[in-house]
Amino acid sequence: MNVSVLTIGDELLNGELSDTNTAAVARRLAAHGYRVRESLCVRDEMDDIVAALQLMADRRAVLIVTGGLGPTADDLTAEAAATAFGRPLEENPAAQEEVRAYFLRHNLTMHPRNDKQARLPVGVEILTNRLGTAPGFRLDTGHCDCFFLPGVPTEMVAMLDEAVLPRLERNHGEGLPTRERVLKVFGLSEPKCEALLVAAGLPEKVQVAFGVDFPFVHVKLRASGSEAETLLDRTEPVARRALGDFVVATGDASLAQTVARLLTEQRKTLALAESCTGGWIAKQLTDLPGASAFLERGAVTYANSAKRDWLKVPEAVLETQGAVSAECARAMAKGIREAAQADVALSVTGIAGPDGGTPGKPVGTVFIGLATASGEEVKGYRFSGDRDTVRRLSVCMALDRLRR
Ligand code: ATP
Ligand code: MG
Repeated sequence: MNVSVLTIGDELLNGELSDTNTAAVARRLAAHGYRVRESLCVRDEMDDIVAALQLMADRRAVLIVTGGLGPTADDLTAEAAATAFGRPLEENPAAQEEVRAYFLRHNLTMHPRNDKQARLPVGVEILTNRLGTAPGFRLDTGHCDCFFLPGVPTEMVAMLDEAVLPRLERNHGEGLPTRERVLKVFGLSEPKCEALLVAAGLPEKVQVAFGVDFPFVHVKLRASGSEAETLLDRTEPVARRALGDFVVATGDASLAQTVARLLTEQRKTLALAESCTGGWIAKQLTDLPGASAFLERGAVTYANSAKRDWLKVPEAVLETQGAVSAECARAMAKGIREAAQADVALSVTGIAGPDGGTPGKPVGTVFIGLATASGEEVKGYRFSGDRDTVRRLSVCMALDRLRR
């Protein structure tokens, strides 16, 4: 079954506010196996709303409209629906009751203006809005089932679940839900991932989609129908094998979560010495509840003096090799590990830019050190991109080192 979505509001087309309602509707419907085929966004202009309603109701069996149900003069949706479908406005007793009940429930005095929210096209079905004053309504044109919902996202989503989805199932049959598994990949491009998966030969009934959440590629395995879960249970390990060690997390998890889980399981403690990442690695790890199980300390050592005083980086290293060098990264990792008495230590030093690069050490030069009981291992990188990109890549590369 095909659905279209119409969002209404000046602020959505002034650049003041992003239209999140369309995505929210699409996500809720997709989870129940209904597909949004198109969407449109219009201003609070009577003619535009009327034209959009007629166009979209003509094309699809279901139309979901959000916004413009409030009591103010710029809320035109009910009147536009009346014009578009030739249904005069009337005082709807059920809607009046809903509005009054809302004010009573919240001990609020009703403004005469709120009466407007009960002036609706003839012959609509009222949809209860538990969270706000504007009731929604359903108008069946005979060709299209139109659902009118308030613009406020929390109200809109609650009504989708409570009022719209049950009616869709009743009037249009159950959807065909799609199940999805997400593999998060670090270090391979989208085409590379695709080539590896094609070579692995996944079942035809499994659809593969790609998305990027820089620097990660999200590989999405999708299947629908009653066999979906079984099919994905069988396919996921095949895809994981094909992508190998580049899969850093699955589902809602992140690379940081994977690292946290590994360190916790292995009962290892970690210390961090960060220069160009400025504590970003520590932030990623301490964002996770339970980080105290493994994180001993993290030092942001930006200046040479900090590297020398806190991490015991030898003056000679700083003078001859410089702070951005393999030797410095090695000394930083060793220094923080010893100070913290930690099992593992990680260090990052680099040039994030835009200034500070030299021909020998251009912007994007980063050294990451890893110290364990068996010594220190340093790797050098040349990342390209702006300051944020270089720092983000450094953080992920450093965390990734802890997985291995
Ligand atoms: P109200 O009774 O609050 O006026 P309404 O149905 O008239 O409800 P609008 O006036 O269109 O809704 O929108 C109310 C608020 O909801 C907007 O100011 C905006 O913050 C938010 N909103 C509306 N439409 C969207 C949308 N498509 N995406 C995200 N937020 C939205
Ligand atoms: Mg409004």
